Amino acid sequence: MKTIGLIGGMSWESTAIYYRTINERVKQRLGGLHSAKIVLVSLDFAELAALQRGERWPEAGEMMVGAARSLAAAGADFIVITANTMHKAAPAIVDAVPLPLLHVVDVTAAAVRPSGARTVGLLGTRFTMEDDFFRERLESRHGLRSIVPAADDREQVHRVIYDELCVGVVRAESRALFRGVVGRLVAEGAEAVILGCTELSMILSPADSPVPLWDTARIHATAAADYALADDEGGTR
Ligand code: GLU
Repeated sequence: MKTIGLIGGMSWESTAIYYRTINERVKQRLGGLHSAKIVLVSLDFAELAALQRGERWPEAGEMMVGAARSLAAAGADFIVITANTMHKAAPAIVDAVPLPLLHVVDVTAAAVRPSGARTVGLLGTRFTMEDDFFRERLESRHGLRSIVPAADDREQVHRVIYDELCVGVVRAESRALFRGVVGRLVAEGAEAVILGCTELSMILSPADSPVPLWDTARIHATAAADYALADDEGGTR
């Protein structure tokens, strides 16, 4: 079994989802007392979020590269960034650290494509919805066109992520807001919606949407476990 290197703490709420999902997958695959081999560097999200707010991406990238280097030194075999937003730093990490990086866009696209959907709604932080790093890779490498909410809705989604979900608050009013946003994405042609923020499953479940929801946290964490076990197919070692 390979050792998974997690860069977490973005927020710790979603890192907990990754930790549980990865271990549940390893248990499902190997049974018995098996659990995942994981090294975790958990950042202080307040420090990172301040850099994000100030659009200080080179410094945020350095923080991520530093975390990836620590994971490599601690024996990780590959890197998993437990957030969509900080995949902005994926190219810097790949340049700096000689380990594979399991990119959230690639594993999400691999999950979505067999469903037949080719136009997807995308929810996430402002950075994920508005910058290129997620949508461009989704389309150019995987042929999935994405639709993002209108500006007002983007602002609300971003606010709920940082002010509520990342601090563990789940409000009924916000769920109603998200349902409305999903409905508007579907009205614009979304055949499915990608939960492109690793906290979004805290507030949205399949019952909230007329189309399938693809949760990047669960997809990415499951893919990480599968990648770690790739050489142990069916094994119980
Ligand atoms: N976990 C979130 C994501 O998947 C948002 C927090 C962050 O900006 O890192 O993008």
